[in-house]
Amino acid sequence: MIRYCTRCVMPETKPDLFIDEDGVCRACRNFDQRAGIDWDARRTELDQLLDKYRSKEGTNYDCIVPVSGGKDSTFQVIKLLEMGASPLCVTATTDDLAPIGRTNIENIKNLGVDYIEFSMNPVVRRRVNRLALDQVGDISWPEHVAIFTIPVRVAVKYEVPLIVWGENAQNEYGGPATAAQDKVLTRRWLEEFGGLLGLRTTDLSSQADIEPKHLIAYTYPTDEELSRVGVTGIYLGHFLPWDGMENARIAQEYGFIPYGEPVEGSIENYENLDNFQTGIHDYFKFLKYGFARATDQACLQIRRGRMAREEGQRLVRERDGRFPWSYLGKPLEEILAPIEVSLDEFTRICDRFTNKKLFLTDVGKRPCLRWLVEGMLIHKY
Ligand SMILES: [Zn+2]
Repeated sequence: MIRYCTRCVMPETKPDLFIDEDGVCRACRNFDQRAGIDWDARRTELDQLLDKYRSKEGTNYDCIVPVSGGKDSTFQVIKLLEMGASPLCVTATTDDLAPIGRTNIENIKNLGVDYIEFSMNPVVRRRVNRLALDQVGDISWPEHVAIFTIPVRVAVKYEVPLIVWGENAQNEYGGPATAAQDKVLTRRWLEEFGGLLGLRTTDLSSQADIEPKHLIAYTYPTDEELSRVGVTGIYLGHFLPWDGMENARIAQEYGFIPYGEPVEGSIENYENLDNFQTGIHDYFKFLKYGFARATDQACLQIRRGRMAREEGQRLVRERDGRFPWSYLGKPLEEILAPIEVSLDEFTRICDRFTNKKLFLTDVGKRPCLRWLVEGMLIHKY
């Protein structure tokens, strides 16, 4: 049986999540610690940092802000503009951008910022999508790499040393203590926690015969380049009390558009609206670890006292782990077509990545019909 945090609904199967002797997970403990944080002092520290990196003569940008167009990045841009910063916003385009994601990107530009969108060679990218799905069970691997490499490459090219990231996922979601306390995103963080799953960009040229010249955008700048510009990154979530729902509310006041209903596999309508492949990514997380996005979202709400744990459990059972027949209304077959994976092939890949310690599967049929949760067998399909 899977052990769950006794406060939120996170299972111990989450990689790097530590549940202590009282049955409480690291992410809940991190959240407790927020009560003792002097946010005024942190805000002062942030002002000082921004001031230190501000372009004194106004001849360059003050900072780079990686933006996806989502509620958090909209919030980041609003806050930085409020603080008088002049940011250069950078988007690494997602694998399969949804129209609502495009609308929200346009909205960020119209907040009044300079903006760069970097699109990688789509022919190579589709090959990488397919290869990553097949080899490490993560269709979103190229996206996870690009959202970290592109802003850093832009920082080097434009010689803007400060990168302002959003939240520290290890703090909010409960990674190792040292990573959780980090306020700086480093190459080591990317390699350990950035979602590479052991597949490195260099592997793509050796294993998949993709030439290095097509992988530039997936490659982190060299240490020499980073130190020449003095590139450093901070998490805004370290300096301001970070709350996704509140960010979404503020973002909406500034033109961010949520989805019309909770997104498939989700309990919210304001998250992950920019990539049709996200449903597949989340489903594989479920197959590997027995939980997915609804669990993550329920935990955030439970910790903030906005949802009872029982309600969270109910929503998780209802939403997590549904076969991703569609995402943002687009049918799975259409999402798979560009990467030339058929439905049959897709279910075979699902089978291969299904954690047999967590799931009972019907051999030869669709995977994950039953899920063992706290002693209950639940039909998921
Ligand atoms: Zn917890």
